Amino acid sequence: KTFCKIIIMRIIIATGNNDKFAEISNVLNEFGIASTAVNVSTAEHGSTLEAVVVNKARQAFFKIKKPLIVDDTGIYFTALKNFPGVESKRIFQRIGYEGLFQRIAGKNRDAMFRTLICYINGKTIKMFDGILKGIITEKVYEGGGEDMPYDRIFIPEGFDKPFCYFSIEEKNKLSHRAKAVRKFAEFFISVNSTT
Ligand code: IMP
Repeated sequence: KTFCKIIIMRIIIATGNNDKFAEISNVLNEFGIASTAVNVSTAEHGSTLEAVVVNKARQAFFKIKKPLIVDDTGIYFTALKNFPGVESKRIFQRIGYEGLFQRIAGKNRDAMFRTLICYINGKTIKMFDGILKGIITEKVYEGGGEDMPYDRIFIPEGFDKPFCYFSIEEKNKLSHRAKAVRKFAEFFISVNSTT
């Protein structure tokens, strides 16, 4: 007799950001990994993306107590060193597009997105990263996800339209987040398919 072992891989995405969930779950689907979003509020502590994402993962695991992933993303303007970087959320809330444009007026408009996906299961904690370079637009475009404010002012390298004009599938072909999620998915499959 042959036994066929069917493994259903499933992971929790701890996020309150619907657009992050849509993008991440879409990539995980490519790998046959099912996912559920759980909206837990986590505080962002730390001065690097690494510190923040590990911290968020620990807080989420403490509440949910099941294997999960969290996402922390920042955008980095070349002309402004690490700004806004790990502070991308707070800075956007505080100064908005106008404030961001003011700070790079007349300067180099190169920028980079960086995502860290952190996996935690109570025994191990692992990070996966993805980056994407591009340029900051001269104006704010309309469209895209409500929870993806920087997509309205970012043109990925090699393209001539802002990220907010991309569908989720198009964005996932090249995004910082998709790159990080793919690395996680490969890892997750390899640890779950030991025969
Ligand atoms: P965080 O990872 O939730 O801390 O995100 C930092 C900030 O960047 C928040 O304002 C997010 O809404 C925004 N953000 C995160 N990922 C993306 C993206 O892929 N495109 C545009 N904005 C993003």
